[in-house]
Amino acid sequence: MSKVMDIYGTLVFDEHTMQERLPSATYKRLLKTIKEGAPLDLDVANVVAHAMKEWAIELGATHYTHWFQPLSGITSEKHDSFIDPIDDGHAIMTFSGKELIQGEPDASSFPSGGLRATFEARGYTAWDPTSFAFIKDEVLCIPTAFCSYTGEALDKKTPLLRSMKAIDIQANRVLALFGEPHQRVVTTLGAEQEYFLISEKDFVKRLDLVLTGRTMFGYSPCKGQELEEHYFGAIRPSVNNFMKELDDELWKLGVPAKTKHNEVAPCQHELAPLFSNANRAVDQNLLTMEEMKLLASHYGLVCLEHEKPFEHINGSGKHNNWSISANGKNLLDPGENPISNLRFMVFLAGVVQAVDDYQELLRMSAASAGNDHRLGANEAPPAIVSMFLGDELGRVVDALVGDNDEYKSAKRTEMDLGVDELPNFLKDNTDRNRTSPFAFTGNKFEFRMPGSQQNLSDCNMILNTAMAKSLKEFADEMEGVPADQFEQAAKDYVKRTLRDHQRIIFNGDGYSDEWPIEAARRGLANHKTTADALPCFVSQKSIDLFEEFNVLNEVEVRSRYEVKLEKYNKTLNIEIRTMKRLVRRDYLPAINQFAAEIAENLWKVKQVCPEADTSAQEQKLKALMDGAAVINKHLAKLHELHYASLEVDDQQKRADMNAHEIIPVMDDLREAVDAMEIIVAREHWPVPTYNEILFYA
Ligand code: ADP
Ligand code: MG
Repeated sequence: MSKVMDIYGTLVFDEHTMQERLPSATYKRLLKTIKEGAPLDLDVANVVAHAMKEWAIELGATHYTHWFQPLSGITSEKHDSFIDPIDDGHAIMTFSGKELIQGEPDASSFPSGGLRATFEARGYTAWDPTSFAFIKDEVLCIPTAFCSYTGEALDKKTPLLRSMKAIDIQANRVLALFGEPHQRVVTTLGAEQEYFLISEKDFVKRLDLVLTGRTMFGYSPCKGQELEEHYFGAIRPSVNNFMKELDDELWKLGVPAKTKHNEVAPCQHELAPLFSNANRAVDQNLLTMEEMKLLASHYGLVCLEHEKPFEHINGSGKHNNWSISANGKNLLDPGENPISNLRFMVFLAGVVQAVDDYQELLRMSAASAGNDHRLGANEAPPAIVSMFLGDELGRVVDALVGDNDEYKSAKRTEMDLGVDELPNFLKDNTDRNRTSPFAFTGNKFEFRMPGSQQNLSDCNMILNTAMAKSLKEFADEMEGVPADQFEQAAKDYVKRTLRDHQRIIFNGDGYSDEWPIEAARRGLANHKTTADALPCFVSQKSIDLFEEFNVLNEVEVRSRYEVKLEKYNKTLNIEIRTMKRLVRRDYLPAINQFAAEIAENLWKVKQVCPEADTSAQEQKLKALMDGAAVINKHLAKLHELHYASLEVDDQQKRADMNAHEIIPVMDDLREAVDAMEIIVAREHWPVPTYNEILFYA
């Protein structure tokens, strides 16, 4: 325990270190920037940079980097050393305020969705003082935003920060109506990260895993997750050692890793940190993912972060626990007294409105080639966005909306006007609905659609902006209301909003066959694939939303849509090529070789013992040759469609083709190969199978 306290945050230039290392005037001014968003002067930056450099060098750092998140979603870094040669042949270590606050990576190789022509490729990175600098592998990493010289965001962080600013402004208008002073409002995020660990020995033999992050072939293992023994089960020693080192490294980096356990599928695990400011939490999640990959190699393991490394067993998600906090007070906590209940109901109604109005954008934020294998109501939510409020809160809403007969009775009158009566038990509400994509869990919402590989900036940016819009509408309407009428007007507003958006609330089983039918009746969107989900990003409604709150302008929205489309198509292209290559070079030859071996044996047996019953061998031979023919047929079809798709220049059309024409053929091809896996002799099968990979010692 004391060890944890000794190491926690030692590699982070956090508030504590700042206070220790900076002159008090500089510290105060920097804190103003961090907490209140005040602009940072160069003279302050110079002092901070010097202190940061001294601190980093003491801890063994030799380089610094601006650490940023281009539109690929993963982090980028270019290391510069602190070294500055001087005339007498020696060198000193320098780091200026300018180097701290601004950098100029050559940005031409990052995806920009056509936003930045390569001839003026220069973008710049700018320090985000709200996320602390840290040391990773002897490099001082400075979290930065990445923009073009014309000011357009080229990264994931900038719009997230802008959306947090929007919610800060609008939430403060609402809080002011409740007589509260101006507060620093931020959104909070706890990102639960799921992942798989498998043996490196198996990994290197699977080109599909190496190239695409998922197995593109593999018959379901004899034993899957049906015994329910893995979830929270005893952790195997190598994994346990991995988890301990991971915790240590994350704690040093100030990442509050809190919970670790085995997940549902064999080889699947989860790490959940304590929640923090959403911007910092996204940075920390990216660091966590990076450390997981790195540290697994110390134990002969490989960390798979793909949404669906293995068919037939659960894939991995990243639950996005989200709330809004004002000076540390959780605004989605129902609270204890009537007025905070009313405030809670205003915020709750705001979330309901935001999720209903922008359900398609939220769905879009979780869209990726990998996540398409996971969403769909078997193991993860369906592609339909709905909200679960739980029994108690659901009842309160029903009563307020007033169309639930059961509650029109005595209880209704009690609750009717009565957010005052909102019971306190909500906080301890353990009523969970694991099938809902967006569930209220006592004092926060859990958005369960995002995939394990995704950068959570996108969904939080959308949630925050949509919520800012709800709050703005409330404030616009209420600011003119006389103080003595505010409470009643606010209650009426809440009722009206909940009534208007009631369709998004669904407390039933999201995995049931009836739900998509009911959802269609309610008019809820159901975009099953990434290709179907992406276009809403560039709808007028979406552009209007982002422009209204200065989160993204139209050009930025369009470029992001382009990048997502291209990424989807490129991923599919890689997967198709991998599939074809494996079938041609590995699977068909293996099947043919095994068939030839049988044929040869058969022939020998017939020579030696003509009267022997060889029907079993003959049947097997026939099954193998039939199987190879089916594989060949699907392979030819896939090849033809693949080449046709490459002729389609329009990226949306190509994505549609991938999603609706090509993926079904890939599924057929896989099925045909998998059917052979279980009849070909083990020694002939070219790769480790699910049984071997998932149940390693
Ligand atoms: P589970 O969903 O697995 O039962 P928990 O309820 O323990 O998990 O919490 C999941 C995550 O939610 C944790 O990362 C936790 O820190 C985070 N969380 C808790 N409160 C908040 C909040 N107010 N805002 C954002 N995240 C929160
Ligand atoms: Mg959870």
